Amino acid sequence: MEKRCLRCGNTEERYFYQDGGTWYCRRCVNFGRLDVGEYPSQKAYTHRRCHCDYHLTYPLTQQQLRCQKEILYHLFNHRDVLVYAACGAGKTELVMECIKQYLNNGRKVGFAISRRQVVLEIRERMQEAFPMLCVIAVCEGSTDVTDGDLIICTMHQLYRYYHTFDLLIMDEVDAFPYRGNDMLRHIAEDACIGQKVYLTATPDADMREQAAKGKLPIVKLFQRPHGYPLIVPEVVCGFSWYQHLRLYRFLKQNVRDQKQVLLFMPTIAAARCYQRWLSVFFPCACITSQTADKDTVIDAFHQHRYDVLLCTTVLERGITIRGVNVVVFHADHKVFQEASLIQMIGRVGRSIEIPSGDGLFLCKRKTEDIRNCIAAIQKMNAEETV
Ligand SMILES: [Zn+2]
Repeated sequence: MEKRCLRCGNTEERYFYQDGGTWYCRRCVNFGRLDVGEYPSQKAYTHRRCHCDYHLTYPLTQQQLRCQKEILYHLFNHRDVLVYAACGAGKTELVMECIKQYLNNGRKVGFAISRRQVVLEIRERMQEAFPMLCVIAVCEGSTDVTDGDLIICTMHQLYRYYHTFDLLIMDEVDAFPYRGNDMLRHIAEDACIGQKVYLTATPDADMREQAAKGKLPIVKLFQRPHGYPLIVPEVVCGFSWYQHLRLYRFLKQNVRDQKQVLLFMPTIAAARCYQRWLSVFFPCACITSQTADKDTVIDAFHQHRYDVLLCTTVLERGITIRGVNVVVFHADHKVFQEASLIQMIGRVGRSIEIPSGDGLFLCKRKTEDIRNCIAAIQKMNAEETV
């Protein structure tokens, strides 16, 4: 008989181990041992009928209000929803209305995100918007309390919530580690007994196909709250020496204009190497996945202690720096896929005070991913003006 793990859905023989006559699954053993045939334990989380409402510093735009209504319409018809919103369009605000409606009906709501840092940020924003609720963050290093009115957690922590949520909002579903991870997908499916809302600025091919076939309702928001279009990067192709020249000129011009620049590099080695070279001309810092004190460096950058921040794709999502411009060096490198490129350029023009800016892709040749990125941004801008 085929063995199957009822938590992660694993059926691959190599992950099953035997211990005194019982088989258990090693693929998801990090979440606690589960024997084959055994269901994950279902905890009794509180269901409290709240009377909550949310407060925002800025009123929602007409477009955001339209999206809110569309999301509610699909959810009340018992359907999952894909929310396709441009970088900086205010995805989080869009789901506050459905959170409120579900909670006021005594339903359980969860909000799951891939990265721990973003869990903490979203918790803070939700707590500010819903001051009357107990909003908790559940992630690595913060797991003492696992129940609250509104639970914000990493995708990994969803294993604690078997058959728990009536509404599960999942942010950045196209990002590592959720993307293409069968185990996490299975655990997320099982955590939700009601509807799911997927939030993304770069839906993958699979989601777009489901939406096109009408299997997954899609709600689109491409306009940023300030109403300015998304930045379309300038693409400059040329030999290596020419790319270096253009890079130097771009940085020099920006420093002269007192603008900060995020400079994306394809590899950790390249980021470090160029930091040494560029430090001769500009105050520079560097962040890669190996940087231990990322927050300190980002804070220093926020305080304008550096003009240029070199980084790898580790900073492609979630970071917001007022008035920053972006360069992607070796934009034709294979690590820079369409979604990455859209996210990186999405760092420009996010604040209401400085709603526009410059983006530059330097490369030897225009790849398919670069072309698709530009096309996607132009399409978003065009759809918004209709
Ligand atoms: Zn398993």
